[in-house]
Amino acid sequence: MLTKLPICCSICKPQYVVVSAPCLLFNPEKPKYMRCPFCSSFNDRVLDTRPLDQSSVVRRRRACGDCKKRFTTYERLEEVSLMVIKSDQRREQFNRTKLREGVMRACEKRPISSDAIEKIVTEVENEAQDFVMEVPSRILGEKVMQKLFSLDPVAYIRFASVYKNFGDIDTFMAELKKLRKEFSKNKKKDKRK
Ligand SMILES: [Zn+2]
Repeated sequence: MLTKLPICCSICKPQYVVVSAPCLLFNPEKPKYMRCPFCSSFNDRVLDTRPLDQSSVVRRRRACGDCKKRFTTYERLEEVSLMVIKSDQRREQFNRTKLREGVMRACEKRPISSDAIEKIVTEVENEAQDFVMEVPSRILGEKVMQKLFSLDPVAYIRFASVYKNFGDIDTFMAELKKLRKEFSKNKKKDKRK
C-alpha cells in the first residue's frame, strides 16, 4: 500500500511528496509510520535498506513487530505539482508561465523591469507553496494585486480589472477612488520622511 505524504518538515519545506515515508531529506535514518499490510500495526522494523535506480528509489525490507510478517516498501521523492482551485472548483496544475503572462500584461509599457516582474512571480509562487498541494486561484490573484499595488498603480488597476472582472463603471470607479486615496496617503507618508 502506498500513501502519499506531503513533507511538513520545517527545514526543507513542503516541496516534495514522499511516497510511504516521512521526510527523507532531513531524516534519512529510520522512516517510521509504515502500516503493516497484514495486521495494520505501525510497529515495524527495517531489516535492510537498498538504494535503487541511482538512489532515486530506496527499497526497504521490513518486519512487523506484531504479526512478524515481512514486507517491502519503495520510497521515492516526487515533485509536488501544486494544483490551483478555480472559482468553479475545477482544479488545474499551477502554471508559472501563465502567472507571469498575467503580470506582464498588466505591466505592459509601464516603467517596470523584467526583474521586478520575475520577483513578483517568484514570490507569489513561493508563498503558494505554503498551501500544501492546493491553492485557491483567488489567493494567487490577491497576492499579485498586493504586490502590484505598491509597485505601480496603473499595472495594479489593469490586473484588478481583469481579475475582479468589474461588471460596470461604478465598481471600477470605486476601485479607482480607493486606489487614489491610498496613493495620496502613501505620497504624504513619503513627503514626511
Ligand atoms: Zn503486522
